[in-house]
Amino acid sequence: MGENQLQQVDQAISRSVKAFKKWRVIPPPVRGEFVRRIGEAFRKNKEAVANQIVEESRKIKSEALGEVQEVIDICDFAVGLSRQLHGLTIASERPLHRMMEQWMPLGPVGVITAFNFPVAVWGWNAALALVCGDPVIWKPSDKTPKCAKLCMKLISQVAKEMDPDGKIIEAGLLEFLPATKDAGIQLVESKEVPLISATGSTKMGRLVAKAVAERLGRSILELGGNNGMIITETADLALARRAIVFSAVGTCGQRCTSLRRLMVHTSIMSGFVVKLIDAYKTLKIGDPMKSDTLVGPLIDAVAFDQMQKAIKRAKAEGGTVIVGGDRVPSPKGLSDDFFVNPCIITMPNITAVVREETFAPILYVMPYADIEHAIELNNGVPQGLSSSIFTNDIREAELFMSAAGSDCGIANVNIGTSGAEIGGAFGGEKDTGGGRESGSDCWKAYMRRTTNTINYSSELPLAQGVTFE
Ligand code: NAD
Repeated sequence: MGENQLQQVDQAISRSVKAFKKWRVIPPPVRGEFVRRIGEAFRKNKEAVANQIVEESRKIKSEALGEVQEVIDICDFAVGLSRQLHGLTIASERPLHRMMEQWMPLGPVGVITAFNFPVAVWGWNAALALVCGDPVIWKPSDKTPKCAKLCMKLISQVAKEMDPDGKIIEAGLLEFLPATKDAGIQLVESKEVPLISATGSTKMGRLVAKAVAERLGRSILELGGNNGMIITETADLALARRAIVFSAVGTCGQRCTSLRRLMVHTSIMSGFVVKLIDAYKTLKIGDPMKSDTLVGPLIDAVAFDQMQKAIKRAKAEGGTVIVGGDRVPSPKGLSDDFFVNPCIITMPNITAVVREETFAPILYVMPYADIEHAIELNNGVPQGLSSSIFTNDIREAELFMSAAGSDCGIANVNIGTSGAEIGGAFGGEKDTGGGRESGSDCWKAYMRRTTNTINYSSELPLAQGVTFE
């Protein structure tokens, strides 16, 4: 990394540390007002931001609009939260004493984002961090830097309108680093940044986890997924088919929650697979800006190459390609893009290639005979992000969601694996990293907890009955 960039990152971190000193004592509802205005800016500029997302990430327009909507939704959530950052009051064992717990701002939060959600993931982190009293330092993906620039432009306008003299919103409150991996490494290693929230591949997460742990910092890791769905004998198959197609081919199979493995009960396997093939054959593949397109291109040539390698390996491991997998000619004017026919491969079991996340639209289909075996197959991969079951049998549904069921962070019934709402905690177990972001009580990760004991007596009793006189 050049001297210039090293300095740029250092200066951004220093500005952020300075901004924290001011921001942490601003009343949370005032911080919420800033976030409310950010949400409004995204509402007004939804179309422009979505167009930029399509241009760089190549997802279809409707999904890009949905991504901007996630930013708006998390801002709304965070505004409410800004009046709700609550602690506990706890009974003390000592007379005339009270204990309580408070949540305090933590400090600058480093946010590293992946190419496939170039705006929403930053939004999830930034909205919560800001109301919690923390500045944000964003390291975007090198594949989507213009999305980040556009967001930062919108935000600096919001800041100027709300606080023209920079009395409460300092420049360092929302920082934006060069999109390079080296800038990410420098951010992760900085002791001035107590929390790193990193979204991307498991390979990246292992490096980030190690570097942050080395300096005893905190991390939220949102890493790769390898998501499964169980189709039982009693499933509503028409509903399941629609959910499978959206989950497996949406964003051209490039969501962390994309459906990659389908476990189908042997009694319905052959007929159901034929229907799936029919559905895949009607998919409209093409220009992601066109409203009737369902599948845009892969992000780049590397992704195409990885898809082809995975298909080859699956065949060598006993799989049969039953539809798709090949490259599709690009529409006029989009010759640099890599369009593919989404692929379905039947597999006898979980093999080495099935255990890996290939970031492309490949769906492995496997038969199962009983629900316990289906759950074993669901859990039999290193990743643990999302999962789902289609069933009308309440026993199967409850078992899937129980301690003996899915081991993933997300376990759905009668809906697909992708397309989470912001109200719930988002994230997964095992190689997915264990982090949680977005709704529920995820805000606590952006704050530090203090326990206070207050003595309002004239005595000094010690805990556990200890005497010291
Ligand atoms: P990637 O790992 O290649 O890059 C992600 C980000 O990490 C980029 O900004 C990159 O520059 C940065 N980075 C890479 N190495 C780094 C290092 N050593 N130190 C600091 N930063 C580093 O991932 P990608 O190809 O952009 O995205 C696809 C992956 O992201 C998939 O595995 C997908 O499942 C995952 N993902 C996970 C979630 C989730 O919430 N679990 C969401 C979106 C994407």
